[in-house]
Amino acid sequence: MAKEDYEMVMGLEVHAELSTKTKIFCSCPTEFGAEPNKHTCPVCMAMPGTLPVLNEKVVEYAVKAGLATNCEISRNSKNDRKNYFYPDLPKSYQISQFDMPLCEHGYVEIDGENGEKKKIRLTRIHIEEDAGKLNHNEFGGGSLVDLNRAGVPLIEIVSEPDLRSPEEVDKYLRKIKSILEYIEVSDCKMQEGSLRADVNVSVRKKGATEFGTRTEMKNMNSFRSIVRAIEYEAERQIEVIEDGGKIEQETLRWDDVSGRTFSMRDKEDAQDYRYFPDPDLVAIRLSDEYIENIKNNLPELPESRRARYISEYNLTEKDSNLLTASKYLSNMFEDAEKICKEPKAVANWLLSDVSRILNEKELEPESIPFTAEQLAKMIILINKGTISSAIAKKVLEELFENPKDPEEIIQEKGWIQISDEGAIKEVVLKILEANPQSIADYKAGKDRALGFLVGQAMKETKGKANPQMLNKMFLEELK
Ligand code: ADP
Ligand code: ZN
Ligand code: MG
Repeated sequence: MAKEDYEMVMGLEVHAELSTKTKIFCSCPTEFGAEPNKHTCPVCMAMPGTLPVLNEKVVEYAVKAGLATNCEISRNSKNDRKNYFYPDLPKSYQISQFDMPLCEHGYVEIDGENGEKKKIRLTRIHIEEDAGKLNHNEFGGGSLVDLNRAGVPLIEIVSEPDLRSPEEVDKYLRKIKSILEYIEVSDCKMQEGSLRADVNVSVRKKGATEFGTRTEMKNMNSFRSIVRAIEYEAERQIEVIEDGGKIEQETLRWDDVSGRTFSMRDKEDAQDYRYFPDPDLVAIRLSDEYIENIKNNLPELPESRRARYISEYNLTEKDSNLLTASKYLSNMFEDAEKICKEPKAVANWLLSDVSRILNEKELEPESIPFTAEQLAKMIILINKGTISSAIAKKVLEELFENPKDPEEIIQEKGWIQISDEGAIKEVVLKILEANPQSIADYKAGKDRALGFLVGQAMKETKGKANPQMLNKMFLEELK
C-alpha cells in the first residue's frame, strides 16, 4: 500500500504558562529571564514541611480559558499529585489534576479545507505547576538546576484525536494561541516556552475504525517544527507498518537539525504516576455565581472581532480572518485606524507589506518594532500627497530598521514627493527628449509607451515625483 492509503491522526496536549504575577502555590514572581534561582522560596524549592496554598488567580484564568473554549466548568475539582522523579522536580511529584479537571468537554473551531468549520473537541483543561529547568554545561561543566520556573502555573489543554493533517494541527494550535492571547491568560511566547505542545501522532488505513498506536513528541514550541515533525513521524510509522512491523507506544524527541525523531523512553501509563489527591490542598468548589461573573467579563474573542471587522469596517472575510488571528496585529489595526480613519489602508499595509517583511524575517507580529501611531502617520502622509506609495514602501522598510516618526524619516532622507508643477514639467521634458521612440510609439497608438515614460520619470526622481501629476503632464505634452 502507498502513503496515500493511510490517514494521519493527531491529538495535542498544549501547555500554556499563565501570566499571573505570582506562582501557583507560593508568592514568588513568575517573570521570565531572572538570574537562576532568584525567584524561589522554601515552597517552590520543595523544602520539607512547607505547605502549598493555591493562587486563586490560577483558577480564574483556567476558568476563563475553559469558557472561551466552550468547556463545561466543574463546580467540584481538586489537585492531585503526579509522582515521578526528575532532577528539575525537587518534590518528586508534580501537583496537577487527575480525575476532576477544572474544565471538560469543550471545542474550538478551525477552518476546514473547503471553507467549512471543523470542530476540534477538547477533552479537558486542567491546572498544574511547571517544573524547573536544567542547564547543561551552560555555567562551566556539569548540569545545574534553575528553579525559577518551578511552580509557575500552567494550564494543560488536551484535545481529542480529531486532527487529521499537519495543516489542521497548525490551525488548531494557532487558534488556541489566539484565544489565550485574547483573554489575556498567557503571553504565549513560544520562544520562551510559554506555549508548548506534546504532539501525539498515529496512522491508520483509510476507512479503518480503530486508531493506530500513537507516539508522542514532547515539548514542541515552533509551528514549523511541529509540521515537519508530524510529516516525518507519520511517514516513519507508515514505513514500519508497510514492512510488517508494529508501532511501539513511546515518547520521542524531534531533532530540528537532523529532521528526525529519536526514542526517549517507553510511554508511562497513568498508573505509573500513582496519582492521589494532594492532602496539603483543599478541594476547589466554584459557585455558579463565580463562573457567571467570569463569563460576563470575558474580553472580546477573535470570532466576534472578525464579524465586527466585516460589518463595521467593510473588510473582506479573508482580511478579517488574517487580522484577528493575532491579537497583537488586530490591536495594531484598531489603534492605527482610530488615528487615520482609513481601515482599508491600514488592513492592506498590515496584511501585505508588513506581513511580507515579517515572513522574510521569520518574525511574529509581536516583534513589529514600530507603533500603530507611526503606521497611521505614514498613511496620513500618503493621503496628503506628501509621499507616494512607492516612497511609503521605503518608509516602511525604514520603520522596521529604525522606527521613528515617518515625518522625520522623510525629512532626513529627503523623500518628500515632488508636487511642484515646474519641477514635474522639467522632468517630463527631459524624459521626452531622451525617448523619441516612445513618443512615436504613443502617437502610433501604443498606450503602453506612456507607462514606460512615467516609469522613466519615476526612476529619474527616485520615486519622488507625484505619479498623478506626471501622468497628466505627459498627456498634455503628447497631445
Ligand atoms: P497522556 O499522554 O498523558 O497519557 P492521554 O491518554 O489523555 O494522555 O492522551 C493524550 C493525547 O493523545 C490526547 O490529546 C489524545 O487526543 C491523543 N491521542 C490518544 N490516542 C491517540 C491516537 N491513537 N493517535 C493520535 N493521538 C492520540
Ligand atoms: Zn516560591
Ligand atoms: Mg501525553
